[in-house]
Amino acid sequence: MPIRTIAIAALLFTLPLQASQPAPARLTALRAARVLDPVSGRVTSNGVIVIRGDRIDSVAASAPAGADVVDLGNLTLMPGLIDGHTHVLLQPDDEITPPVLTKSQAYRTIEGVRAVKLDLEAGFTTMRDLDSEGAGFADVALRDAINKGVIPGPRLLVATYALTITGGHMNLSGMNPDIALPDPAALTDSREAMIAEVRREVKYGADWIKLYATGTLRHVDPVTLEPLSQVSVDEVRAVVAEAARWRKDVAAHAYGGPGARAAVEGGVRSLEHGMMLDDDLLRLMAERGTFWCPTLSVYMPETGLPAPGDITARVIASHKRTFQAAMKAGVKIVFGTDVGAFPHGTSAREFVHMADYGMPPIEAVRSATTRAAELLRMEKQVGTLAPGAFADIIAVDGDPLADITALQRVRFVMKGGAVVRRP
Ligand SMILES: [Zn+2]
Repeated sequence: MPIRTIAIAALLFTLPLQASQPAPARLTALRAARVLDPVSGRVTSNGVIVIRGDRIDSVAASAPAGADVVDLGNLTLMPGLIDGHTHVLLQPDDEITPPVLTKSQAYRTIEGVRAVKLDLEAGFTTMRDLDSEGAGFADVALRDAINKGVIPGPRLLVATYALTITGGHMNLSGMNPDIALPDPAALTDSREAMIAEVRREVKYGADWIKLYATGTLRHVDPVTLEPLSQVSVDEVRAVVAEAARWRKDVAAHAYGGPGARAAVEGGVRSLEHGMMLDDDLLRLMAERGTFWCPTLSVYMPETGLPAPGDITARVIASHKRTFQAAMKAGVKIVFGTDVGAFPHGTSAREFVHMADYGMPPIEAVRSATTRAAELLRMEKQVGTLAPGAFADIIAVDGDPLADITALQRVRFVMKGGAVVRRP
């Protein structure tokens, strides 16, 4: 055994030396009618993005000599999009029956392989995947398979299990108490249980910690729209501190009320959904720099709006009011969709809803590029065309600043310098 250990150690020490002398990376030049830079907010005519290996080399007026030129004609080049709230292990039919009851983790992982491909081809080159909803650590497996080049997909940051309480969100209710059922989330009914669960998730590969700070729609009071509060400030502080020990951040599912306030005061980095956030809390979020992923689309039926007075209609109205108040208060709004609850590959519909509610197109673009990268602490790597960033680049049909629906017409996708989709 000791001899083998020494041999492996010797091999590990020689690897970096070999890797430090790579062949000079080839230059590729992407040329199109327009280049949209979300940092400056400007669209340049007839620009060129020069790629060296997996990184952006420069944004130039013309292609350098010797570069492989990819001419994208009348499209608009821009950084790859970031979705701050996805579920690659959820599919629309799982909204009808909890998948822990009807699908194996193996089957859900296969569906996940298809989901990440569809989302990448739709222009989303980075995604924060906010919990596997009972598919165990399959999100870690998908992330690792993508990073190793086994399957195509976005850069994934995954949350594994969400932390919940008995009877709370993602704890199956109304079932036969005599049958043991799988849990879609981790049951953490005390501060100590929460801390232990954070450690377990980090051990098995979580990049983010997801906490259910409030219940779901079935817990919302039909008269006052008050959500169920699932956490205290003290518990949130404990989760945030434990996550910070491992250099991880916390995202809290929170509709509003005391649960949302506890999440913000306890120091989570982002709030998710937030349909019923009040103005005082929005001010506090702006002050503290708490990010917000509104996920407008998932609460809006594509067809057949609910009758006015119906609880869904009232929640949608409250969401719109909150969104507009958050913009006014200066809350950092990040593009996030909950895709998986609706078909993978269609997240860009969220841009249309954000614009409908009054967000200027450039701010909607930033929410899915520079702002989302800031949430992920990846500002120098993704969501930008700055030299040295990953060559995650898309080209869309139209100018998104003139017509936001252009972001639903992604025709070209490059991730880390490799072309994923071409016109
Ligand atoms: Zn979600």
